[in-house]
Amino acid sequence: MQTHFSLAQLADSDTAAVNDILRACVHCGFCNATCPTYVLLGDELDSPRGRIYLMKQMLETDAPASREVVTHIDRCLSWVACMTTCPSGVHYQHLVDQGRKHIEETYRRPLMDRLIRWGLAMTIPYPSRFRLVLRAAKVARPFAGLLPKRLRASLALAPRRMPKPSPVDKPQVIAAEGTRRKRVALLNGCAQTVLAPQINEATVRLLTRLGVEVVVADGAGCCGSLVHHLGKVDPSHAQAKAVIDAWTREIDGGGLDAVIINSSGCGTQVKDYGFMFRDDPDYAHKAERISLMARDVSEFVAELDIDLPSSGNAAGLRVTYQSACSLQHGQSVHRQPRDLLSAAGFTVSEPAEGHLCCGSAGTYNILQSDLADQLRDRKAATIAATTPDIVATGNIGCMTQLADAIDAPIVHTVELLDWATGGPKPGALA
Ligand code: SF4
Ligand code: SF4
Repeated sequence: MQTHFSLAQLADSDTAAVNDILRACVHCGFCNATCPTYVLLGDELDSPRGRIYLMKQMLETDAPASREVVTHIDRCLSWVACMTTCPSGVHYQHLVDQGRKHIEETYRRPLMDRLIRWGLAMTIPYPSRFRLVLRAAKVARPFAGLLPKRLRASLALAPRRMPKPSPVDKPQVIAAEGTRRKRVALLNGCAQTVLAPQINEATVRLLTRLGVEVVVADGAGCCGSLVHHLGKVDPSHAQAKAVIDAWTREIDGGGLDAVIINSSGCGTQVKDYGFMFRDDPDYAHKAERISLMARDVSEFVAELDIDLPSSGNAAGLRVTYQSACSLQHGQSVHRQPRDLLSAAGFTVSEPAEGHLCCGSAGTYNILQSDLADQLRDRKAATIAATTPDIVATGNIGCMTQLADAIDAPIVHTVELLDWATGGPKPGALA
């Protein structure tokens, strides 16, 4: 694709990166076939190729974002099925990041929109604030009908029962069982520690059982993904820097073999830290090192290349694996969770249209609830067709999105691996 940025524009590193991305696109449109919003809406402007044109025009002219551009970029889920399909290696993720940043800087959203986005950015990354909001949501639920639509969507996603904070989410070092094979840091995350603390508990049990010492580093909170996807660069960089600093202290102290992430949206973000900070002289090296060490928990366990101990709990159980977009498209991790579940003794299948998003996508199911609901229902139907005993996925967002839409219990992959190797039965299966 021809581009027309001026030399002055190209002196900016972000614009130079955008230019390279755009020039890689041959506008073949292969990506449209796997784009969830194009599949639903059939509008070229709600496809990757259409959005690429919209962003090209907006960024080349450096014009304030128009309402039309904002509409179509806001509808993008950002979990890049288009990148998996693209034969030319177009890095749509970095392009849409720049598009969202430009929108954030140049477009004044309606008041309610601004309030909701501000509220999401100020609460979800902070577990204590998020817990308070969820308590308030419980009180507000009977009055949901009186609220604006998007607030109703948030209430529908709030859990009816809130688990207690877990002791594993406090800074500490948890020793390996037996001989230590590896030493890793675990990203405990933000919303996940509030909504589903059992995921980190299962992760710690599984890793330590396999001979891995787990560090929960002081200061490693939210990875910055949530605000990053809202186009808010400064807070996302600040949150990411805190995580990088915390892990760098551990690397320079007791040493680390890897940093482990069990929420795939966060993992995609951490693996991109090297790119995010490429021009920052203080952080470029540290960020790149962390990105290279980042592993999804399933990826890491597969790399250990050891026989999993068996409790016999998995025998005869049919698991449908829902491959989170952020894991399969954002990190190209697809085979490992399936193979581990099979190796642990489960009978594993996948739903049709496994490449399509379930509609969760960070805060998408709040900000674009109509499209998110359609994607959820479509995904739930394909899952139901596999008649599973259990549904497994590697992302808290998919769990929250699908929990009420499917009959089978949905759990994190690591909860099943923990149970199948000697841990307790996941609460959702009780
Ligand atoms: S598949 Fe790749 S090269 Fe083809 S239109 Fe989409 S982004 Fe461009
Ligand atoms: S990120 Fe997802 S929704 Fe956005 S253009 Fe790509 S495939 Fe479509």
